[in-house]
Amino acid sequence: MLIDTHAHVNFNAFKDDSDKVIRRSLDSDTWMINVGSQASTSRRAVKIAEKYNKGVYAAVGLHPIHLWESYQDVEETSFFKTRAEEFDYNFYKNLAASKKVVAIGEIGLDYYHLPKSDGEKLKNKQKEVLIKQIELAQELSSCGRSPEGRDLPVIFHCRDAYDDLLGIIRKLPKIPRGVLHCFADTLETAQKFLDLGFMLSFTGIVTYPRAESVREVAKKIPLEKIMIETDAPYLLPHQLRVNLRNCPRKSASIKQRNEPVYVKYVAEEIARVRGLSFDEVAKATTENAVKFFKL
Ligand SMILES: [Zn+2]
Repeated sequence: MLIDTHAHVNFNAFKDDSDKVIRRSLDSDTWMINVGSQASTSRRAVKIAEKYNKGVYAAVGLHPIHLWESYQDVEETSFFKTRAEEFDYNFYKNLAASKKVVAIGEIGLDYYHLPKSDGEKLKNKQKEVLIKQIELAQELSSCGRSPEGRDLPVIFHCRDAYDDLLGIIRKLPKIPRGVLHCFADTLETAQKFLDLGFMLSFTGIVTYPRAESVREVAKKIPLEKIMIETDAPYLLPHQLRVNLRNCPRKSASIKQRNEPVYVKYVAEEIARVRGLSFDEVAKATTENAVKFFKL
């Protein structure tokens, strides 16, 4: 059994066949957590999870790139241009009341996609919204205020902003239980997050020929700190990617869509670099996810 700890079957890329995609995944013993990125996709992640008795969970949160008006990938929403979203604490708090919600996320900092104008102002806004969402996770957690006594962890997204993210987390009165999703940096960066007690989760990037440094991290950090994910519809594992040059555009984009059942390629690659069997990695990463998200 495997757990895809970060997928987006709640995104527009799956609007026509999300049930089939989920069924395919559950039929091959692969559970999933669908992760929200804004109000609409968070709501949809919960709605999807509530349709299944087991094996499908949700995370809710506001991704840092949705804090300004931007042109969106149509894989995510059906609109080309999305409005800036203001973080609504009570909206996310209400969504998180569903028992299917197992984390707050994905939240974090993303300086890679920042527009050139207003850069500094938007960085500050990202930090402010990030802190509010960590506070939400902690408010909903085991301080006795939540009826189920849940202990919600946080799924962090971080791009080109590791030092700022570390700085913010270290200054918090209480360090959240966190996972840094789609880890794609160096061993040195990995160590800083491990020192905070974080988990690291790996995507199909570990299969990419140029991702030598990411494979090194997947090889050297303790197995009990590793989780696996697809980040579907993005980051299709290397062996499934088609050569786009000779493909008509439309069919190429369909073939390039990733989905939870392909998380096995991530487990396979981690097993290969660590010299372990597939089953050993499957068992360890599944146990890690069950424990971390309290599934
Ligand atoms: Zn994601």
